[in-house]
Amino acid sequence: SKAYKITVLPGDGIGPEVTSAAVRVLEVITKHTPLQLEITEQLFGGASIDAHGVPLSDGTLKACKEADAILLGAVGGPKWGVGPVRPEQGILKLRKELGLYANIRPASFISENLLQYSPLKESVAKGTDIVVVRELTGGFVSVGSSVLSSGDHACFAWVWGRHLRPTTQGELLPQDFGDKVESSSVSGAHASDLCVYSREEIERIIRAAAQIALAENPPLAVTSVDKANVLATSRLWRQVATEIMEKDYPQLAFSHQLVDSAAMIMVANPRKLNGVLVMENMFGDILSDESSVIPGSLGLLPSASLAGAPDPSKTVSGIYEPIHGSAPDIAGQGIANPIGTILSAALMLRYSLGRPDEAAAIEAAVRKVLDSKAAGGLDLRTKDLGGEANTTEVADRVCEQLEKILAKA
Ligand code: NAD
Ligand code: MN
Repeated sequence: SKAYKITVLPGDGIGPEVTSAAVRVLEVITKHTPLQLEITEQLFGGASIDAHGVPLSDGTLKACKEADAILLGAVGGPKWGVGPVRPEQGILKLRKELGLYANIRPASFISENLLQYSPLKESVAKGTDIVVVRELTGGFVSVGSSVLSSGDHACFAWVWGRHLRPTTQGELLPQDFGDKVESSSVSGAHASDLCVYSREEIERIIRAAAQIALAENPPLAVTSVDKANVLATSRLWRQVATEIMEKDYPQLAFSHQLVDSAAMIMVANPRKLNGVLVMENMFGDILSDESSVIPGSLGLLPSASLAGAPDPSKTVSGIYEPIHGSAPDIAGQGIANPIGTILSAALMLRYSLGRPDEAAAIEAAVRKVLDSKAAGGLDLRTKDLGGEANTTEVADRVCEQLEKILAKA
């Protein structure tokens, strides 16, 4: 069978420590299953600035474009914080070059032992199992002028200190802006921002959300989040979402939720939102941060950014990374929690390589490690969970559990 190409970008700070832990877990998979992976590392971020003067070199970009999927640690640090060339520019450029339009952040308790770290009461937080799917290229931020050149999309603009600027239909039409449109502008006493979506952009993110729901057994419910009572883009969003879901995914439970009420439910009764929540770029920025604190620690959660809807019949590239940053305060000490990166590798198997069983095996191994108790608590906690275990100990234990699980399968 074919060997999948995986490009690993360790990056900066704790990045190399957590990606090497995740690579070890992937190596257990290739050793015990027919899956073949060709794993190579490339410099990225600050490490690449030091070596080549740029955060994303042509060589690294080429390796990323040729890869079936990318595993990223984190970039950045005080060393590169102030210059005109910054590590974070590498991530933005890479996302753009790869056309990553779906940002996926699951938030769930992989072990009930973690309930004690939630900012919510245990009775409220327990059972939360939310996957936020954020549209990453359009909407309220980073509006590209290319979007405006084709028909069939909706615009919304407002001017601070005034009300909405209406056209005959109560909406701003794209041609009103001509070629001069910019996503944001400030002049004198007024500032304005634009929110733009085309039918195609909405359709592909809704399909990605539906495919993510279908990748689970049983399939997840899909909730589309919008502000259709106020925004024209949200009304187009709701219309397109309804069409696609009714026509092509009638087997999935599907509903709509207004974004303000979703934000409230997420802290009052998050289980009510269990399943896939799909939404506009800025709504997703806000609600994915809100959802990610519910299961406790930054060090535990994975994320994915996809260049297409997941499809079991073909590989769809993407960047897989933990939600945390490069943690300069603990870098080089070998004490970073590798679980967010290990779970990112599991997402990579599920969404990019069409390997849900292997993904579930990794998740089960992590659960086993976090479930094991000694002296009435977690016996293998890294610093972010108030413990003293190191990165290698956690990775060793996950690999051990994974070997046991795969031997049984
Ligand atoms: P951070 O996530 O790096 O760290 C926040 C706190 O959480 C720190 O105290 C850190 O020690 C702890 N922490 C984070 N991950 C951990 C882990 N896996 N195990 C144990 N503890 C962990 O956020 P920050 O301090 O705001 O940012 C540091 C640098 O990372 C900055 O340069 C920032 O720009 C960058 N950053 C990069 C990304 C990315 O690469 N996608 C994301 C966020 C921040
Ligand atoms: Mn954000």
